[in-house]
Amino acid sequence: MSAGEPLLQMTLRVEQDIFLVRQRGREVAAAVGLEHQDQVRLATALSEVARDLLRTVGGADVAFHVVHGRDGRPALRVDLTPASPLPDGRYEPQSGAVARLVDTLGVTSEEGDTVVRMSRRVPAAAQALTEARLAELRAELGHSAPGSALDELATQNEQLIAALDEVRSQRDELAVLNAELEETNRGVMALYTQLSEELEETNRGVVALYAELDEKSAQLRTASESKSRFLANVSHELRAPVTAIIGLGRLLTDSASDPLTPEQSEQVELIRASAADLLSLVNALLDLAKAESGRIEPEWADVDLRAVFGQLRGTLRALTNRSAVELVVEEPPAAAVLRSDEVLLSQVLRNLLHNALKFTERGEVRMTAQRDDERWRLSVSDTGVGIRPELHERIFEEFYQVPGASRVGGTGLGLPYARRLVTLLGGTLELTSEPGRGSTFTVVLPASGA
Ligand code: ADP
Repeated sequence: MSAGEPLLQMTLRVEQDIFLVRQRGREVAAAVGLEHQDQVRLATALSEVARDLLRTVGGADVAFHVVHGRDGRPALRVDLTPASPLPDGRYEPQSGAVARLVDTLGVTSEEGDTVVRMSRRVPAAAQALTEARLAELRAELGHSAPGSALDELATQNEQLIAALDEVRSQRDELAVLNAELEETNRGVMALYTQLSEELEETNRGVVALYAELDEKSAQLRTASESKSRFLANVSHELRAPVTAIIGLGRLLTDSASDPLTPEQSEQVELIRASAADLLSLVNALLDLAKAESGRIEPEWADVDLRAVFGQLRGTLRALTNRSAVELVVEEPPAAAVLRSDEVLLSQVLRNLLHNALKFTERGEVRMTAQRDDERWRLSVSDTGVGIRPELHERIFEEFYQVPGASRVGGTGLGLPYARRLVTLLGGTLELTSEPGRGSTFTVVLPASGA
């Protein structure tokens, strides 16, 4: 820190000089741009040190400088050169708090002179302290006349009052802030309570809903179980008499029996045909009831798709002999083997092929097997009437038949049964169809079995 010509110099020898030093110190601090509070701090520290030095060494020479620190920032520095040597060359302020009022306070020795030195940095926002500005300040400070001790006392009083005011307003501000904080807290608490009440309410609703759902699904389960039981019992009971009717019909028309009139044999034929229809319905019901009650257990084994396809090709070819529909059962790829139940799988595919042939007047019915990743896709596609999109799920319901479809016979139980079986085999039964162009039913099975 280099210091040129001081901004102001003064001598401290008598009690009144303390006021003077304080007053002028504040003036210089204001002139170089220290903030109001820092001006008061510096002036206070200065008057304290001045009092100490007057008492211990009979006074001092006081010089004010502007110096530039290592970071280039200016600071106001006050050097107090004691009138006689300091005891032990040391200085300790009477009040320990003094050092905190300034940035630095201490004793330094310069060219044999011992100096008590304090400094306070000028804020960056202050007007730049160029050489020209310093010269200006020197002139101004040289001219300004120092006031009396009384003036200084009055100024000190004013400063005290201002400081008190500031403290009071800060306290008021704090009180306002506190009140606001309390208000906010209350708001947050109210919101929290409201939210947790709402949450509780919702929870109660959800719990009630679940209880209701549980109850409903238990009811549904019971209803479905009793339906299956009923179907199984009724169809079982019906099978025997229906079979008896068919047998009796056969007996009546047998060549060994008494001949019937043409009308009689026509009626007996009608009875036999109706009984046969009834038997297939009863059988279908029995199958479905069995599948639904979980009484069908797949027998897992390695199933060779080529064999299954070959057999179906053989048995169904007869159905297409005289129609305008070609049945194409494509050869599955080599090593088309999957874990499944051959009887159930054949039943499903036969059912799909039957339907396809039933609902196709011309064109072709084609069955293919394709493997993608870990799945087999076994598809039966036809060029028949197709199914409207809104009915794609309904046709899997029991007894549902697309209006008009019953003309070609059937019970409406084939597809729900097929889907049951595919589910038992660990797969899904999918449908894509376009009315008027045809349908594709696809059995998707895991290659490794269920
Ligand atoms: P159904 O004994 O009547 O064939 P399904 O359960 O097998 O009973 O089929 C239900 C209904 O789905 C059929 O009545 C028919 O309306 C429709 N359906 C099934 N397969 C086909 C198909 N390949 N093409 C067009 N419609 C079909």
